[in-house]
Amino acid sequence: MDAYDYCKYMVETWPNRWTGSIGEKESGDWMEEQLAGMGYETRQTRFDCPGWEYEGEELYLEGKPLKAGAQFYSVGCDVTGPLAAVQSDGKGGFRGEAKGKIALVKETETTDVIERNKILLALESAGAVAAIMESEYPDTYSTKMFRTPESKLPAAGVSGEVGQKLFAAVGKEARLVIRARQTQSTTSNVFGEKGPAEGPVFLVCAHHEASPGSPGAYDNAAGIGVVLEMAKRFSKVKCDARLRFVGWGGHEFGALGSKWYVENCRDEAEKVKRLLVFDGVGAAEADPQIMAWGGEQLVEKVRAYAEKRGGVKFRAGTGGGGDATYFVPIGVEAVWVSASRWRLGDLYGREDHQWRAAAPFHSPIDDMRWIGREAMAREVEIGMGLMKEWLGEFGVRCEGES
Ligand SMILES: [Zn+2]
Repeated sequence: MDAYDYCKYMVETWPNRWTGSIGEKESGDWMEEQLAGMGYETRQTRFDCPGWEYEGEELYLEGKPLKAGAQFYSVGCDVTGPLAAVQSDGKGGFRGEAKGKIALVKETETTDVIERNKILLALESAGAVAAIMESEYPDTYSTKMFRTPESKLPAAGVSGEVGQKLFAAVGKEARLVIRARQTQSTTSNVFGEKGPAEGPVFLVCAHHEASPGSPGAYDNAAGIGVVLEMAKRFSKVKCDARLRFVGWGGHEFGALGSKWYVENCRDEAEKVKRLLVFDGVGAAEADPQIMAWGGEQLVEKVRAYAEKRGGVKFRAGTGGGGDATYFVPIGVEAVWVSASRWRLGDLYGREDHQWRAAAPFHSPIDDMRWIGREAMAREVEIGMGLMKEWLGEFGVRCEGES
């Protein structure tokens, strides 16, 4: 199996593997088996997280069915009410009348999930019966535009096209059914490692779970595919370094897995010389991008590598992001490889200028249609190239051909 095959297998076997779900557990166990089969010492660290049982949803406008998707951690419901358009006030509240109504909000009028969660809580306090968010994607929707287990207000998302129909029907009656329940669950980080304990540590990682209701191909079975192929290549090499390959759990609820590791295995995390993250990769028609957080030496070396290789965009980061968020503040240098952003307008052939990822991630259509075998091989080569440069930089001796 190569990176593409691992990704495809994961997507097709566990199309539902959200934080704390059975699919997440099974795909994590599978990843551990793969690493063990390559000869790595493996383990999983399991910890508590908010859980969510989810079976499906229905939305009706004046009795006619429309496509909608429950939002992560939404409570279950069967509610009916008139539709009402509300607007974000930019401060976590909203403008409009929501009491007794199904409130409609546009994702494009909000900035991030933190603000949207606050709007959901504000709508709940105001006595709305449900919230529906119109996605910025015309033909699909993210399942985590809202993402808070604190809210007991039913929440759903709809595509831009369905959103238009709903906004055109303000005052008319809609019915929203969500079959879901908030629970408590656990999630886990998957480790496979080898090499001398006293050697410099290099950590190659990706998150293994996905948004609910999303096959999570681009985000991020593809990342796991790259990590597994790199592990396979390095399994044939003996190095004077500790190579640690990791699949993070709980990422889609605020990078829970990498956060847990930095907080609970602080000594181990601090010893990591370089963190290499793959998140949102393998998109066939997008260019790769490398983002680096660290000292001038790392940043300049990675920049030079990107220039030498060609066809790769480079960005120097500040503060950390994704699964590097909790490592960067404790002084770990980090690099994030992704298949770079397109304009959302380019993706959908329309005129707008928002930069977004190369596939509609966190959506039900983040499936294998976006992933290319060559793009996956390209991401693996970038990872192998960076690792070889770093092993050289730290004077690590290696025997064997990867
Ligand atoms: Zn991701």
